[in-house]
Amino acid sequence: MAGETRASHAKVYGVDVVLDEEENIDNPYCEHGPTVLFEKFIKNKPSQKYYACSACRERKDCNFFQLKDEKITKGKEILQKEIKKKLFGKKKKSIKQLSTDDKWCFDCGVVVATVNNPHQLHSVRFLNANELKTPTLLINPKSDKKTNAQYFFSEETCKLFITMITKLQFKKIICVGTPRLFEMITSNDKLDASAILLDIDDRFKHFYDGSQYQQYNMFNDFFFDATNGKKSFDKFLSDAHSNEILIIVDPPFGGMATLLANTLSKLWKECGDDNLVATMLVFPYFLESHVINTSMSTLQMLDYKVSYTNHPHFNNLNKRGSPVRIFTNIPADKISLPQEHYRFCKLCQRYVYKENRHCNVCKLCTSKDGRTYIHCSQCEKCVKPGRLHCETCKNCEAVGHKCNRSQVVGCHICGSEDHKRKDCTNKPVAEEEEQSVGEKRKMRSIKQAASKQKGAAKNKKRKTVV
Ligand code: SAH
Ligand code: ZN
Ligand code: ZN
Ligand code: ZN
Ligand code: ZN
Repeated sequence: MAGETRASHAKVYGVDVVLDEEENIDNPYCEHGPTVLFEKFIKNKPSQKYYACSACRERKDCNFFQLKDEKITKGKEILQKEIKKKLFGKKKKSIKQLSTDDKWCFDCGVVVATVNNPHQLHSVRFLNANELKTPTLLINPKSDKKTNAQYFFSEETCKLFITMITKLQFKKIICVGTPRLFEMITSNDKLDASAILLDIDDRFKHFYDGSQYQQYNMFNDFFFDATNGKKSFDKFLSDAHSNEILIIVDPPFGGMATLLANTLSKLWKECGDDNLVATMLVFPYFLESHVINTSMSTLQMLDYKVSYTNHPHFNNLNKRGSPVRIFTNIPADKISLPQEHYRFCKLCQRYVYKENRHCNVCKLCTSKDGRTYIHCSQCEKCVKPGRLHCETCKNCEAVGHKCNRSQVVGCHICGSEDHKRKDCTNKPVAEEEEQSVGEKRKMRSIKQAASKQKGAAKNKKRKTVV
């Protein structure tokens, strides 16, 4: 990616990521590996470049911050040394893999170490061999952080992946942030495929050896185990043909798409075939533009609604179903979707949601959210159902909307007509932050609902587990 232009920039709330390789040689490290160089644009002031964490968007999750041209104090120097020592130090304590001799506390989701333990009133017992193969059914999914919440695929969605792997005969599956799928693949004897799990959650170390799992940061392509991480991955790939490899990524949706795209480009190179390595990225349809604006634009959105077991909205129990989709470079006609809800559109040569109607004007099945879109001849495109064309706004709008909220067609910060104000790089930062408040609020309510559900699930477990 960095080869395309000298510097690649992505817009993120008034802050760009600088991926220029020359500028990124000496990035300092945070506890999540090499940091990323950001450039912040401030109204009427020169822009500011600084290093911050690749994975954590919120300061409370990782507070690393260093201006690019900052004079490094002794204190900061020591801090750098300590971070690197923690990451690369020889004295890292070796992790014991769990066995059937270990007791597990089902309430806390941890190994019970001693006899005299704080789990006396909890459900504690030995693990059997099958349970050791399915850690995602044991550990408590992380749900506390916006950038690192764990939502596991539903059975139906796992099945779709497995069927696809079987049908298209993939032999080497790289599971990036997809632990549930990983265990479905590796515990399936009928499947003639091997897999490796790359995930930042190091609890998987207790369940898998280095050839099966490596702790990895998908936002900077960083292996935490300096000696064996990359080595194990290379070994996994050593006997693989690039056309037998499948990469499946399910990132935290709050993460930065530009960084993910950068990592994918690197992984594609590792696999020996830039761009052509089969890849499936799990991402919501409403963030499609984030995918299109990066080197991941080769991935196209499928209609399939990805569902999760422990997410309050991203499942197919509610009326609209999940907004999460699969973005892939596998030709869409090769991926058949369950007949109950999907049909094959001969004109588009892909499976679409049954309610997604082919529009003869757009020459596409135009729905993104799964409902039937309606063509508006004035807008010259298909629009969401229920919208009416408004003469004042010159656009299809919701009934009862406030007119003239955005009168200008293009951007009224820089005057360009090919983007709106909200996408302008020259936008004052304060405004960007204001805009993201709505999004944050949404995330917060999703989180709250998730933790409530987690509590409920825990209670349920307590009743069922002896
Ligand atoms: N649906 C998937 C799980 C997705 S949850 C499944 O069922 O298999 C997102 C996963 O990404 C989590 O397992 C989390 O630990 C991991 N993750 C979060 N941030 C990451 C990062 N920076 N690098 C790598 N993995 C990350
Ligand atoms: Zn960090
Ligand atoms: Zn149309
Ligand atoms: Zn219209
Ligand atoms: Zn109007």
